[in-house]
Amino acid sequence: MAQRKAKRSWPNFPKTDSKLVWLLIALALFVGARAWLTENPQHNPWAPLDLRDPHGMTTGVKLAALRGDVPACHAVLQRSEVEFTALEPTGEGECRREDRLIPANFAFSPGNPETTCPVAAGLALWMEQDVQRLAREKLGSPVERIEQLGTYSCRRMYGATSGRWSEHATGNAIDIAAFVLEDGRRIGLLQDWEDEGSRGQFLRAARTAACKSFGTVLSPDYNAAHADHFHLDQGRAPARGACR
Ligand SMILES: [Zn+2]
Repeated sequence: MAQRKAKRSWPNFPKTDSKLVWLLIALALFVGARAWLTENPQHNPWAPLDLRDPHGMTTGVKLAALRGDVPACHAVLQRSEVEFTALEPTGEGECRREDRLIPANFAFSPGNPETTCPVAAGLALWMEQDVQRLAREKLGSPVERIEQLGTYSCRRMYGATSGRWSEHATGNAIDIAAFVLEDGRRIGLLQDWEDEGSRGQFLRAARTAACKSFGTVLSPDYNAAHADHFHLDQGRAPARGACR
């Protein structure tokens, strides 16, 4: 049986009218797209980064642009109401630190660590958008403080005598061992990573989410050296380094 051809349903405008119609459609699309980007700044490449906004298509690019630009990064923290104390540059050679601050928007133990600004921005975004939500959803209580194992350490990777310098050498990384919840429970990497229940689910989801806010994320899945902590650093653009 012969197939019937679908009839063309476009209105038959005179030539000048049809140009005008297409122009109006293009204008409507432009106005609509602009309104949508204003409503969704996390997808808008021209909107300044605010860490209180959800992750969007342009968040990673904006975070990456903060590397090496201390004033721009401080402006993002201030805009996002992330409190911090800026410190003077210090150190020499591979361990020279031009970018040093202590974030004060969240509690860490044994104390709030000294980090680079991009690490503080990553932590703020990850905690605000992912960790607290996951803790409430999976464990029924938000996180009260993070147990950290350190940020700055002037050394090469894995403490070797040669080879690449660690991101810890400039304080551009943080190691996290556990999350202490408001209800007093402690969710630790060493004890709970393999847990099939809510504790393990929380840790594994927090690891995967961290890859949107950090350049490199290493967990117990990566190797035995990370069995007891998450290593988060901003050596690369978010989600460009290892995420495992
Ligand atoms: Zn580390």
